[in-house]
Amino acid sequence: MVDLQELETFLIEYRRNMHRYPELSHQEYQTTENIRQLLLSHGVTIVDTPLETGLIAQITGAETGPTIALRADIDALPIVEQSGVEFVSENEGAMHACGHDFHTSVVLGATILLNQQRDKLKGTVLVIFQAAEEVAQGAGKVLETGVLENVEAIFGFHNDPSLPVGTLGTKVGELTAAVDRFEIIVKAEGAHGAKPHEGVDPLIVLAQIIQAFQPIVSRNLAPDSHAVLSITQVHSGETWNVIPESAYLEGTVRNFSAENRQKVEQRIRKILEGIALANEIEIDLIWHASCPSVTNDEKWTTVSLEAAQAVGYETRIVKESAIGEDFAYYQEKIPGSFVMIGSGGPYELHHPKFRVDDTALFPAVKYFEALVLSVLK
Ligand SMILES: [Zn+2]
Ligand SMILES: [Zn+2]
Repeated sequence: MVDLQELETFLIEYRRNMHRYPELSHQEYQTTENIRQLLLSHGVTIVDTPLETGLIAQITGAETGPTIALRADIDALPIVEQSGVEFVSENEGAMHACGHDFHTSVVLGATILLNQQRDKLKGTVLVIFQAAEEVAQGAGKVLETGVLENVEAIFGFHNDPSLPVGTLGTKVGELTAAVDRFEIIVKAEGAHGAKPHEGVDPLIVLAQIIQAFQPIVSRNLAPDSHAVLSITQVHSGETWNVIPESAYLEGTVRNFSAENRQKVEQRIRKILEGIALANEIEIDLIWHASCPSVTNDEKWTTVSLEAAQAVGYETRIVKESAIGEDFAYYQEKIPGSFVMIGSGGPYELHHPKFRVDDTALFPAVKYFEALVLSVLK
């Protein structure tokens, strides 16, 4: 049996080391290798899969029973770190600014503890160390392996800097947003800056689009929809005396229901058709549908909250968060629960100064241990 105090110290050090060497989505080769080596050194079985990065471990209980899954994500973000921590990123331009180093260390700790308690488990635990969460492609790749086919429940978490350490929040139903990205290309007609009547000014069209999109959320959706539409990039023109021939816009929509998600896309398409018609030009829309909402099952959320309380967490029912999380793809196939664990702030996820509080790590390990022991008892 590993000493708990030693394990905590080890995991904090492991997390710091992982933080120092972040790897971007689909490039988590060394990260995967480090996880593999640690698991093997503790006698944990690794499932044979075609995954290039990321891996799945397996803990087989002494008695037969259901198969459940835990999931951690392992990738970093293309951000230049400004956190000022002593274990600052040494891979310039990459940073664990979403705390996936923390997630990985927590789930590694729980895996080590649970693997030692196989004699207490009635069933099997698959532990997913998932690559490419930030680009919402990793969960799909894990599902494609077919390894999760018989999984009856899946559990995951994200650290939440807005929650104090020692707090765990979740809710039944939609917890995170369904995320869509759109790109719009206005194909107008350039002209001399002094002769706008000889062309069609794409900048005027761009302004019409931005204005016309604003009432979609405020007028077409119900007041309690919590949807958001943001235009985040516009580009057009190169100089002062030429009306350019095209304009480009990009943005994102976040929704908490499949119905609203569809409605917003339909409104965007209709509005663009109308503006194109009125200006006698073409407008192209490229729609990138990303992950749906993390949607928590009632039974498994209750089980999660009870496990959290049993290990001393103050639990909260939290509001939906507009972040995207590709754990949602697992929940389209497998019921489960996703929780937010307080990591202390003060900087938000994806901030160049983001950091997590070391003291938040081990309670989260104990939470996953308690959760699995309660489900497979
Ligand atoms: Zn993130
Ligand atoms: Zn994240």
